[in-house]
Amino acid sequence: MNEPRKLYVKSFGCQMNVYDSRRMADSLAPQGYIETAAAGDADLIILNTCHIREKATEKVYSELGRVRRIKEAAQAEGRRVVVAVAGCVAQAEGEEIIRRAPAVDLVFGPQNYHRLPELLAHTERGGKAVDTEFPVDDKFDHLAAPSRAAIRARGVCAFVTVQEGCDKFCTFCVVPYTRGAETSRKVDKIVAEVEQLAAAGVREVTLIGQNVNAYHGEGSDGRPWSLARLLERIAGISGVDRLRYTTSHPCDMDDDLIAAHRDLPTLMPQLHLPVQSGSDRILAAMNRRHTRDDYLDVVARLRDARGDLALTSDFIVGFPGETESDFAATLSLIGDIGYSGAFSFKYSPRPGTPGADMQDQVAEDVKSERLQRLQDLIDRNQVAFNRRCLHRTFDVLFEREGRYGGQLVGRSPYFQPVRVDAPASLIGEVAAVTVTEIAGNSLFGTLAHAPARAPALVGAGA
Ligand code: SF4
Repeated sequence: MNEPRKLYVKSFGCQMNVYDSRRMADSLAPQGYIETAAAGDADLIILNTCHIREKATEKVYSELGRVRRIKEAAQAEGRRVVVAVAGCVAQAEGEEIIRRAPAVDLVFGPQNYHRLPELLAHTERGGKAVDTEFPVDDKFDHLAAPSRAAIRARGVCAFVTVQEGCDKFCTFCVVPYTRGAETSRKVDKIVAEVEQLAAAGVREVTLIGQNVNAYHGEGSDGRPWSLARLLERIAGISGVDRLRYTTSHPCDMDDDLIAAHRDLPTLMPQLHLPVQSGSDRILAAMNRRHTRDDYLDVVARLRDARGDLALTSDFIVGFPGETESDFAATLSLIGDIGYSGAFSFKYSPRPGTPGADMQDQVAEDVKSERLQRLQDLIDRNQVAFNRRCLHRTFDVLFEREGRYGGQLVGRSPYFQPVRVDAPASLIGEVAAVTVTEIAGNSLFGTLAHAPARAPALVGAGA
């Protein structure tokens, strides 16, 4: 029998990339590849890249410098290492990557990773390959399913991609160019994947997509299903205790989806709903297609449906033309909503997006100062939200052992990490926990004897 070949995949960016990386590993398992955590041991190194963050492309080239040294060291020992760049930077840069980093053998975009075995065969014959087409076939149909052992090794929480791409064209974002138009997977394919995960012990499933609530995949009746209908179907799968979905656009938060937060106990009371800015002028310049009042209205309807909903968001600070009064509108929106957390970034132009060519770019020092003020406010929101959990009892799904012996780490319904002294046999189980202490972003608690429902956390704001 041949020695297994070793695969090292490094994921950058969002959960979509983490999911894609796992599916790449699944598709290479039948070719004899096993995953390794050490790049220096690998026969195949894949960098699965992200284009969202600042200087993403330059970070990939700097990482490729390290990978080239690993490849050269292996060559000196008579061992061949194949280097591949995948994901959104690969899609955007294409052949330029091989030109600037000749150690790279293979470049492929997010829609092409099901072709990995065939592309690798080409490189094994000594060639280089670039594949950044948007093929019409569904890549998910061509992917090998993960083994039971692989699912178990990945833990009790799993991501499942249900939707990819985006038609919204926000003026700061590269996703519509790198991931292409919105597409949704068929319901029966998603259900089969979730059933397989649940049978192997997964208890929490997060449905993911760049614009997940625009989901409109073909259902078993041949008609397009909404995300609400898909969630209801998946909630019926035995073994799935918890459901979440991300990332959502406020314009696609329809009545059925809002009602699902009231009607589906499996759907956790937590939602990531990016707003980016609280100023109507900036929202229009960003082409977000909604106003501040539209967003507040969606949040009010969500909180009517589920009073304890924990909300998180994304914010971009210093978008071109943002004045102090626009920024003040963002701070006041945060005060009005009361978030349980948020991701916030300084605006940085992405080549090829309309925002990059806009006049009135905001000075770096102004962006930095505003970002600090915004993050301070979000931190106060988060502390206030966590404090309202103190002395409450709610269900925690235990995911893994903690740093200290006898400690387990799980997640609350609101997605906070919770640390509890509990036996390892509880990993993969949901148990009621009473919160006794808050430290940083973590909750500490003790096992409660009786199971409990999530607490009512009505009201918000720091
Ligand atoms: S909706 Fe999200 S993914 Fe789509 S263009 Fe806007 S920011 Fe990018």
